[in-house]
Amino acid sequence: MRSFFMTLAPERADTPALDVANPAVGLSCRHCGATYPLSPSHVCVECFAPLEISYDPDLLGRVTRESIERGPANLWRYVGLLPAGHDPARRVSLGAGWTPLRPAPRLAAELGMKTLYVKDDSANPTHSFKDRVVSVALSAARELGFTTVACASTGNLAQSVAAHAAGAGLRSVVLVPHDLEAGKTVSTGVYGGTLVAIQGNYDDVNRLCSELAGEYEWAFVNVNVRPFYAEGSKTLGYEVAEQLGWRLPEQVVVPIASGSLLTKVDKAFGELGKLGLVEPTPYRVFGAQAAGCNPVAAAFARGVDTVAPVRPSTIAKSLSIGNPADGPYALDVARRTGGAITDVSDDEILEGMRLLARTEGIFGETAGGVTVANLRRLLREGLLDPAAETVIYNTGDGLKTLDPLVETGGPTATIKPSLRAFEAAGLGDD
Ligand SMILES: *Cc1c(COP(=O)(O)O)cnc(C)c1O
Ligand SMILES: [Zn+2]
Repeated sequence: MRSFFMTLAPERADTPALDVANPAVGLSCRHCGATYPLSPSHVCVECFAPLEISYDPDLLGRVTRESIERGPANLWRYVGLLPAGHDPARRVSLGAGWTPLRPAPRLAAELGMKTLYVKDDSANPTHSFKDRVVSVALSAARELGFTTVACASTGNLAQSVAAHAAGAGLRSVVLVPHDLEAGKTVSTGVYGGTLVAIQGNYDDVNRLCSELAGEYEWAFVNVNVRPFYAEGSKTLGYEVAEQLGWRLPEQVVVPIASGSLLTKVDKAFGELGKLGLVEPTPYRVFGAQAAGCNPVAAAFARGVDTVAPVRPSTIAKSLSIGNPADGPYALDVARRTGGAITDVSDDEILEGMRLLARTEGIFGETAGGVTVANLRRLLREGLLDPAAETVIYNTGDGLKTLDPLVETGGPTATIKPSLRAFEAAGLGDD
Protein backbone atom coordinates (compact mmCIF):
# COMPACT_ATOMS: atom_id res chain seq x y z
CA MET A 1 0.00 0.00 0.00
CA ARG A 2 2.70 2.40 0.99
CA SER A 3 4.82 1.76 -2.12
CA PHE A 4 1.73 2.22 -4.32
CA PHE A 5 1.12 5.58 -2.72
CA MET A 6 4.75 6.61 -3.13
CA THR A 7 4.70 5.78 -6.83
CA LEU A 8 1.68 7.98 -7.36
CA ALA A 9 2.89 10.91 -5.31
CA PRO A 10 6.66 10.69 -4.87
CA GLU A 11 6.96 14.29 -3.74
CA ARG A 12 4.85 13.51 -0.70
CA ALA A 13 7.07 10.70 0.57
CA ASP A 14 10.48 12.20 1.19
CA THR A 15 10.75 15.95 1.23
CA PRO A 16 12.98 16.94 -1.68
CA ALA A 17 15.57 19.68 -1.37
CA LEU A 18 13.95 23.08 -1.77
CA ASP A 19 15.22 24.92 -4.79
CA VAL A 20 12.97 27.96 -4.39
CA ALA A 21 13.44 30.10 -1.29
CA ASN A 22 10.45 31.83 0.28
CA PRO A 23 10.89 35.50 -0.68
CA ALA A 24 8.45 36.67 2.02
CA VAL A 25 10.28 38.23 4.95
CA GLY A 26 7.51 39.74 7.04
CA LEU A 27 4.30 41.72 7.18
CA SER A 28 4.10 45.45 6.73
CA CYS A 29 1.35 47.99 7.30
CA ARG A 30 -0.16 49.37 4.11
CA HIS A 31 -0.74 52.70 5.84
CA CYS A 32 2.09 53.52 8.28
CA GLY A 33 4.72 51.03 7.12
CA ALA A 34 5.18 49.36 10.55
CA THR A 35 6.72 45.91 10.13
CA TYR A 36 5.90 42.57 11.78
CA PRO A 37 7.25 39.03 11.53
CA LEU A 38 5.45 36.56 9.23
CA SER A 39 2.51 35.47 11.38
CA PRO A 40 -1.26 34.95 11.27
CA SER A 41 -2.20 38.61 11.66
CA HIS A 42 -3.79 41.09 9.33
CA VAL A 43 -4.19 44.41 11.17
CA CYS A 44 -1.54 46.92 12.19
CA VAL A 45 -1.54 47.39 15.99
CA GLU A 46 -0.26 50.96 15.50
CA CYS A 47 -2.93 52.30 13.16
CA PHE A 48 -5.43 49.44 12.47
CA ALA A 49 -4.75 49.50 8.71
CA PRO A 50 -4.44 46.18 6.85
CA LEU A 51 -1.11 44.35 6.69
CA GLU A 52 0.46 42.92 3.59
CA ILE A 53 3.36 40.60 2.85
CA SER A 54 6.74 42.20 2.33
CA TYR A 55 9.37 40.51 0.20
CA ASP A 56 13.14 40.39 -0.06
CA PRO A 57 13.76 42.07 -3.43
CA ASP A 58 16.92 39.99 -4.00
CA LEU A 59 14.98 36.74 -3.61
CA LEU A 60 12.21 37.97 -5.92
CA GLY A 61 14.94 38.93 -8.37
CA ARG A 62 16.03 35.30 -8.67
CA VAL A 63 12.83 34.48 -10.54
CA THR A 64 13.26 34.33 -14.30
CA ARG A 65 10.90 33.60 -17.19
CA GLU A 66 12.71 30.27 -17.58
CA SER A 67 12.34 29.28 -13.92
CA ILE A 68 8.62 30.01 -14.16
CA GLU A 69 8.21 28.16 -17.45
CA ARG A 70 9.90 25.08 -15.94
CA GLY A 71 7.28 25.02 -13.17
CA PRO A 72 4.01 23.09 -13.05
CA ALA A 73 0.98 24.04 -15.17
CA ASN A 74 -0.77 25.57 -12.17
CA LEU A 75 -0.40 28.66 -9.99
CA TRP A 76 2.62 27.18 -8.22
CA ARG A 77 4.78 27.99 -11.24
CA TYR A 78 4.91 31.45 -9.57
CA VAL A 79 5.94 30.10 -6.15
CA GLY A 80 9.09 32.26 -6.26
CA LEU A 81 6.79 35.32 -6.10
CA LEU A 82 4.46 33.94 -3.39
CA PRO A 83 4.64 33.86 0.44
CA ALA A 84 3.91 30.12 1.01
CA GLY A 85 4.03 26.68 -0.60
CA HIS A 86 7.79 26.51 -1.19
CA ASP A 87 8.00 22.96 0.13
CA PRO A 88 5.93 20.96 -2.38
CA ALA A 89 5.39 18.24 0.24
CA ARG A 90 3.46 20.62 2.50
CA ARG A 91 1.82 22.69 -0.21
CA VAL A 92 -2.00 22.62 -0.28
CA SER A 93 -3.00 22.29 -3.91
CA LEU A 94 -5.77 20.85 -6.04
CA GLY A 95 -4.03 22.15 -9.16
CA ALA A 96 -5.66 25.59 -9.37
CA GLY A 97 -4.42 28.13 -11.87
CA TRP A 98 -3.00 28.19 -15.41
CA THR A 99 -6.54 28.58 -16.71
CA PRO A 100 -7.17 29.47 -20.37
CA LEU A 101 -6.75 32.97 -21.76
CA ARG A 102 -9.30 32.72 -24.54
CA PRO A 103 -9.38 35.06 -27.52
CA ALA A 104 -12.93 36.41 -27.75
CA PRO A 105 -13.28 37.64 -31.36
CA ARG A 106 -17.05 37.17 -31.59
CA LEU A 107 -17.74 39.09 -28.40
CA ALA A 108 -15.25 41.74 -29.56
CA ALA A 109 -17.05 42.08 -32.91
CA GLU A 110 -20.43 42.39 -31.20
CA LEU A 111 -19.08 45.16 -28.97
CA GLY A 112 -17.08 46.89 -31.71
CA MET A 113 -13.72 46.08 -30.12
CA LYS A 114 -10.45 45.15 -31.75
CA THR A 115 -8.70 42.62 -29.49
CA LEU A 116 -10.45 41.04 -26.53
CA TYR A 117 -9.55 38.07 -24.34
CA VAL A 118 -11.42 36.30 -21.59
CA LYS A 119 -9.26 34.98 -18.77
CA ASP A 120 -11.51 32.06 -17.88
CA ASP A 121 -11.07 31.16 -14.23
CA SER A 122 -14.16 28.97 -14.22
CA ALA A 123 -11.68 26.24 -15.23
CA ASN A 124 -10.34 25.97 -11.66
CA PRO A 125 -10.92 22.82 -9.54
CA THR A 126 -14.00 24.22 -7.75
CA HIS A 127 -14.88 26.46 -10.70
CA SER A 128 -13.99 29.89 -9.37
CA PHE A 129 -10.95 32.10 -8.95
CA LYS A 130 -11.12 31.51 -5.17
CA ASP A 131 -9.10 28.30 -5.60
CA ARG A 132 -6.03 30.46 -6.15
CA VAL A 133 -6.29 32.42 -2.92
CA VAL A 134 -7.34 29.38 -0.92
CA SER A 135 -4.47 27.23 -2.15
CA VAL A 136 -1.99 29.90 -1.02
CA ALA A 137 -3.83 30.68 2.25
CA LEU A 138 -4.10 27.02 3.31
CA SER A 139 -0.46 26.38 2.41
CA ALA A 140 0.46 29.29 4.68
CA ALA A 141 -1.93 28.06 7.38
CA ARG A 142 -0.31 24.65 7.42
CA GLU A 143 3.18 26.16 7.53
CA LEU A 144 2.08 28.36 10.45
CA GLY A 145 0.98 25.23 12.32
CA PHE A 146 -2.83 25.36 11.99
CA THR A 147 -4.87 22.19 11.66
CA THR A 148 -8.30 23.88 11.34
CA VAL A 149 -9.12 26.36 8.60
CA ALA A 150 -12.20 28.56 8.49
CA CYS A 151 -13.85 31.30 6.46
CA ALA A 152 -16.81 33.60 5.95
CA SER A 153 -18.05 33.26 2.43
CA THR A 154 -20.56 34.41 -0.18
CA GLY A 155 -20.33 30.88 -1.61
CA ASN A 156 -17.30 30.37 -3.82
CA LEU A 157 -14.80 30.70 -1.01
CA ALA A 158 -16.83 28.22 1.04
CA GLN A 159 -16.63 25.54 -1.62
CA SER A 160 -12.96 26.15 -2.26
CA VAL A 161 -11.96 26.06 1.41
CA ALA A 162 -13.99 22.91 2.03
CA ALA A 163 -12.45 21.20 -1.00
CA HIS A 164 -8.84 22.19 -0.35
CA ALA A 165 -9.13 21.32 3.35
CA ALA A 166 -10.55 17.91 2.46
CA GLY A 167 -7.78 17.28 -0.04
CA ALA A 168 -5.11 18.24 2.50
CA GLY A 169 -6.59 16.48 5.54
CA LEU A 170 -7.30 19.74 7.38
CA ARG A 171 -10.48 20.39 9.36
CA SER A 172 -12.69 23.12 7.87
CA VAL A 173 -15.36 25.36 9.41
CA VAL A 174 -17.23 27.40 6.82
CA LEU A 175 -19.78 30.15 7.59
CA VAL A 176 -22.20 31.36 4.90
CA PRO A 177 -25.32 33.55 4.74
CA HIS A 178 -28.43 31.35 5.04
CA ASP A 179 -29.94 32.61 1.74
CA LEU A 180 -27.15 31.37 -0.49
CA GLU A 181 -27.96 29.61 -3.78
CA ALA A 182 -28.79 25.94 -3.01
CA GLY A 183 -26.12 24.77 -5.46
CA LYS A 184 -23.43 26.54 -3.49
CA THR A 185 -24.38 24.99 -0.14
CA VAL A 186 -24.67 21.50 -1.61
CA SER A 187 -21.33 21.78 -3.38
CA THR A 188 -19.67 22.89 -0.14
CA GLY A 189 -21.28 20.36 2.19
CA VAL A 190 -20.26 17.44 0.01
CA TYR A 191 -16.61 17.80 1.09
CA GLY A 192 -17.57 16.84 4.62
CA GLY A 193 -16.37 19.83 6.66
CA THR A 194 -18.47 21.86 9.08
CA LEU A 195 -20.85 24.20 7.20
CA VAL A 196 -22.78 26.80 9.22
CA ALA A 197 -25.62 28.90 7.72
CA ILE A 198 -25.91 32.27 9.46
CA GLN A 199 -29.16 34.22 9.61
CA GLY A 200 -27.68 37.43 8.29
CA ASN A 201 -25.90 38.86 5.24
CA TYR A 202 -22.25 38.45 4.33
CA ASP A 203 -21.15 41.39 6.44
CA ASP A 204 -22.86 39.82 9.48
CA VAL A 205 -21.13 36.52 8.74
CA ASN A 206 -17.81 38.28 8.42
CA ARG A 207 -18.26 40.09 11.72
CA LEU A 208 -19.00 36.81 13.49
CA CYS A 209 -15.90 35.32 11.86
CA SER A 210 -13.72 38.07 13.29
CA GLU A 211 -15.15 37.34 16.76
CA LEU A 212 -14.51 33.62 16.36
CA ALA A 213 -10.96 34.38 15.24
CA GLY A 214 -10.39 35.93 18.66
CA GLU A 215 -11.64 32.76 20.40
CA TYR A 216 -10.18 29.87 18.43
CA GLU A 217 -6.75 29.00 17.11
CA TRP A 218 -8.01 28.58 13.58
CA ALA A 219 -6.71 29.98 10.33
CA PHE A 220 -9.48 32.20 8.97
CA VAL A 221 -8.52 32.49 5.33
CA ASN A 222 -9.94 35.98 4.88
CA VAL A 223 -9.21 37.25 8.40
CA ASN A 224 -5.97 36.33 10.19
CA VAL A 225 -4.20 34.81 7.17
CA ARG A 226 -5.68 37.35 4.74
CA PRO A 227 -2.28 38.84 3.79
CA PHE A 228 -1.24 35.39 2.47
CA TYR A 229 -4.66 34.75 0.90
CA ALA A 230 -4.59 38.04 -0.99
CA GLU A 231 -1.23 37.29 -2.59
CA GLY A 232 -2.78 34.29 -4.38
CA SER A 233 -4.75 36.73 -6.53
CA LYS A 234 -1.52 38.03 -8.04
CA THR A 235 -1.33 34.84 -10.09
CA LEU A 236 -4.29 36.09 -12.18
CA GLY A 237 -2.05 38.97 -13.24
CA TYR A 238 1.10 36.89 -13.80
CA GLU A 239 -0.73 34.34 -15.93
CA VAL A 240 -2.30 36.86 -18.26
CA ALA A 241 1.10 38.47 -18.88
CA GLU A 242 2.80 35.12 -19.47
CA GLN A 243 -0.01 33.88 -21.71
CA LEU A 244 0.23 37.03 -23.82
CA GLY A 245 3.88 36.11 -24.43
CA TRP A 246 5.34 38.05 -21.46
CA ARG A 247 3.51 41.30 -22.18
CA LEU A 248 1.06 43.40 -20.21
CA PRO A 249 -2.41 43.98 -21.71
CA GLU A 250 -3.46 47.59 -22.27
CA GLN A 251 -6.76 47.32 -20.38
CA VAL A 252 -8.27 44.86 -17.91
CA VAL A 253 -11.78 44.64 -16.47
CA VAL A 254 -11.92 42.98 -13.04
CA PRO A 255 -14.98 42.23 -10.88
CA ILE A 256 -14.92 43.70 -7.37
CA ALA A 257 -16.17 42.09 -4.16
CA SER A 258 -13.71 43.13 -1.42
CA GLY A 259 -11.52 44.78 -4.08
CA SER A 260 -8.58 42.53 -3.30
CA LEU A 261 -8.40 40.79 -6.68
CA LEU A 262 -8.34 44.09 -8.56
CA THR A 263 -5.52 45.51 -6.45
CA LYS A 264 -3.49 42.31 -6.77
CA VAL A 265 -3.77 42.17 -10.55
CA ASP A 266 -2.27 45.67 -10.52
CA LYS A 267 0.39 44.60 -8.02
CA ALA A 268 1.30 41.60 -10.20
CA PHE A 269 1.69 43.74 -13.34
CA GLY A 270 3.83 46.18 -11.36
CA GLU A 271 6.06 43.42 -9.97
CA LEU A 272 6.59 41.82 -13.37
CA GLY A 273 7.68 45.18 -14.75
CA LYS A 274 10.00 45.88 -11.82
CA LEU A 275 11.59 42.43 -12.01
CA GLY A 276 12.24 42.84 -15.74
CA LEU A 277 10.00 39.89 -16.61
CA VAL A 278 7.91 42.12 -18.89
CA GLU A 279 8.33 45.55 -20.45
CA PRO A 280 6.67 47.94 -17.96
CA THR A 281 4.14 49.25 -20.49
CA PRO A 282 1.16 51.32 -19.29
CA TYR A 283 -2.12 49.58 -18.55
CA ARG A 284 -5.52 50.68 -17.29
CA VAL A 285 -7.46 48.81 -14.62
CA PHE A 286 -11.28 48.92 -14.66
CA GLY A 287 -13.45 47.62 -11.81
CA ALA A 288 -16.89 46.04 -12.22
CA GLN A 289 -19.69 46.00 -9.65
CA ALA A 290 -23.42 45.28 -9.51
CA ALA A 291 -25.70 48.29 -8.95
CA GLY A 292 -27.22 46.34 -6.05
CA CYS A 293 -23.84 46.31 -4.29
CA ASN A 294 -21.81 49.20 -5.66
CA PRO A 295 -19.93 50.90 -2.81
CA VAL A 296 -16.68 51.24 -4.76
CA ALA A 297 -18.35 52.32 -8.02
CA ALA A 298 -20.38 54.90 -6.08
CA ALA A 299 -17.23 56.34 -4.47
CA PHE A 300 -15.55 56.43 -7.87
CA ALA A 301 -18.52 58.27 -9.39
CA ARG A 302 -18.56 60.77 -6.54
CA GLY A 303 -14.83 61.35 -6.79
CA VAL A 304 -14.27 60.58 -3.09
CA ASP A 305 -11.66 58.43 -1.32
CA THR A 306 -13.87 56.88 1.33
CA VAL A 307 -16.11 53.94 0.54
CA ALA A 308 -19.49 54.18 2.26
CA PRO A 309 -20.90 50.73 3.15
CA VAL A 310 -24.12 49.58 1.45
CA ARG A 311 -26.65 46.83 2.15
CA PRO A 312 -26.28 44.42 -0.80
CA SER A 313 -29.26 43.37 -2.89
CA THR A 314 -28.25 41.81 -6.21
CA ILE A 315 -28.22 38.47 -8.02
CA ALA A 316 -24.40 38.74 -8.07
CA LYS A 317 -24.06 37.16 -4.62
CA SER A 318 -20.38 36.28 -5.01
CA LEU A 319 -19.66 40.02 -5.27
CA SER A 320 -22.04 41.05 -2.46
CA ILE A 321 -19.66 42.64 0.01
CA GLY A 322 -21.26 45.84 1.25
CA ASN A 323 -18.22 46.99 3.21
CA PRO A 324 -15.23 46.08 1.01
CA ALA A 325 -11.90 45.94 2.88
CA ASP A 326 -9.85 46.86 -0.19
CA GLY A 327 -12.32 49.37 -1.62
CA PRO A 328 -10.11 52.46 -1.10
CA TYR A 329 -7.10 50.65 -2.59
CA ALA A 330 -9.17 49.59 -5.62
CA LEU A 331 -10.23 53.22 -6.13
CA ASP A 332 -6.61 54.20 -5.98
CA VAL A 333 -5.58 51.68 -8.63
CA ALA A 334 -8.35 52.67 -11.03
CA ARG A 335 -7.55 56.37 -10.67
CA ARG A 336 -3.78 55.95 -10.87
CA THR A 337 -3.92 53.81 -14.02
CA GLY A 338 -6.57 55.88 -15.81
CA GLY A 339 -9.28 53.25 -15.43
CA ALA A 340 -12.76 53.53 -13.92
CA ILE A 341 -15.13 51.63 -11.63
CA THR A 342 -18.74 51.28 -12.76
CA ASP A 343 -21.85 49.25 -11.97
CA VAL A 344 -24.73 47.58 -13.84
CA SER A 345 -28.27 46.47 -13.02
CA ASP A 346 -29.33 42.86 -12.43
CA ASP A 347 -31.02 42.78 -15.85
CA GLU A 348 -27.79 43.91 -17.48
CA ILE A 349 -25.92 41.20 -15.54
CA LEU A 350 -28.23 38.49 -16.93
CA GLU A 351 -27.83 39.94 -20.41
CA GLY A 352 -24.04 39.95 -19.90
CA MET A 353 -24.09 36.25 -18.96
CA ARG A 354 -26.14 35.41 -22.06
CA LEU A 355 -23.95 37.58 -24.30
CA LEU A 356 -20.73 35.85 -23.19
CA ALA A 357 -22.32 32.40 -23.55
CA ARG A 358 -23.91 33.17 -26.94
CA THR A 359 -20.81 34.73 -28.52
CA GLU A 360 -17.96 32.73 -27.02
CA GLY A 361 -19.42 29.54 -25.59
CA ILE A 362 -18.33 30.57 -22.09
CA PHE A 363 -20.97 30.25 -19.38
CA GLY A 364 -19.81 32.56 -16.61
CA GLU A 365 -21.51 33.01 -13.27
CA THR A 366 -23.28 36.22 -12.31
CA ALA A 367 -19.87 37.77 -11.53
CA GLY A 368 -18.87 37.11 -15.16
CA GLY A 369 -22.11 38.78 -16.24
CA VAL A 370 -21.17 41.78 -14.10
CA THR A 371 -17.83 42.03 -15.88
CA VAL A 372 -19.21 41.67 -19.41
CA ALA A 373 -22.06 44.12 -18.75
CA ASN A 374 -19.65 46.68 -17.29
CA LEU A 375 -17.35 46.22 -20.29
CA ARG A 376 -20.32 47.14 -22.46
CA ARG A 377 -21.13 50.16 -20.31
CA LEU A 378 -17.51 51.36 -20.27
CA LEU A 379 -17.45 51.20 -24.08
CA ARG A 380 -20.78 52.98 -24.37
CA GLU A 381 -19.55 55.79 -22.14
CA GLY A 382 -16.24 56.08 -23.95
CA LEU A 383 -14.24 55.22 -20.83
CA LEU A 384 -12.62 52.12 -22.32
CA ASP A 385 -10.75 52.22 -25.63
CA PRO A 386 -12.26 49.72 -28.12
CA ALA A 387 -8.99 49.66 -30.09
CA ALA A 388 -6.74 48.78 -27.14
CA GLU A 389 -5.96 45.16 -26.24
CA THR A 390 -8.34 44.21 -23.43
CA VAL A 391 -8.59 41.28 -21.02
CA ILE A 392 -11.75 40.63 -19.00
CA TYR A 393 -11.82 38.24 -16.07
CA ASN A 394 -14.50 35.57 -15.85
CA THR A 395 -14.05 34.49 -12.26
CA GLY A 396 -16.64 31.73 -11.85
CA ASP A 397 -18.73 29.09 -13.62
CA GLY A 398 -22.34 29.76 -14.61
CA LEU A 399 -23.41 26.38 -13.25
CA LYS A 400 -22.91 27.89 -9.79
CA THR A 401 -25.59 30.53 -10.32
CA LEU A 402 -28.37 28.96 -12.38
CA ASP A 403 -31.23 30.37 -10.28
CA PRO A 404 -31.54 33.83 -11.84
CA LEU A 405 -31.57 32.31 -15.34
CA VAL A 406 -34.23 29.69 -14.71
CA GLU A 407 -37.18 31.88 -15.75
CA THR A 408 -35.77 32.72 -19.17
CA GLY A 409 -33.47 29.74 -19.68
CA GLY A 410 -36.01 27.21 -20.90
CA PRO A 411 -36.11 25.35 -24.22
CA THR A 412 -36.76 27.10 -27.54
CA ALA A 413 -39.97 25.02 -27.89
CA THR A 414 -41.63 21.98 -26.30
CA ILE A 415 -43.21 19.67 -28.90
CA LYS A 416 -44.59 16.17 -29.54
CA PRO A 417 -41.95 13.66 -30.76
CA SER A 418 -42.92 13.93 -34.45
CA LEU A 419 -41.44 15.51 -37.57
CA ARG A 420 -44.75 17.29 -38.20
CA ALA A 421 -44.68 18.92 -34.77
CA PHE A 422 -41.04 19.93 -35.32
CA GLU A 423 -41.84 21.65 -38.58
CA ALA A 424 -45.09 23.15 -37.33
CA ALA A 425 -43.10 24.84 -34.57
CA GLY A 426 -40.91 26.48 -37.23
CA LEU A 427 -37.73 24.78 -36.00
CA GLY A 428 -36.30 23.60 -39.34
CA ASP A 429 -34.17 25.54 -41.86
CA ASP A 430 -36.12 28.18 -43.71
C1 LIG B 1 -14.45 36.52 -4.60
C2 LIG B 1 -14.79 36.71 -6.01
C3 LIG B 1 -14.36 37.83 -6.76
C4 LIG B 1 -13.54 39.01 -6.27
O1 LIG B 1 -13.16 39.00 -5.00
P1 LIG B 1 -12.38 40.17 -4.24
O2 LIG B 1 -12.91 40.06 -2.86
O3 LIG B 1 -12.69 41.47 -4.88
O4 LIG B 1 -10.95 39.82 -4.32
C5 LIG B 1 -14.69 37.87 -8.09
N1 LIG B 1 -15.44 36.92 -8.66
C6 LIG B 1 -15.87 35.84 -7.99
C7 LIG B 1 -16.69 34.83 -8.72
C8 LIG B 1 -15.56 35.69 -6.65
O5 LIG B 1 -16.00 34.60 -6.01
ZN1 LIG C 1 -0.01 50.91 10.53
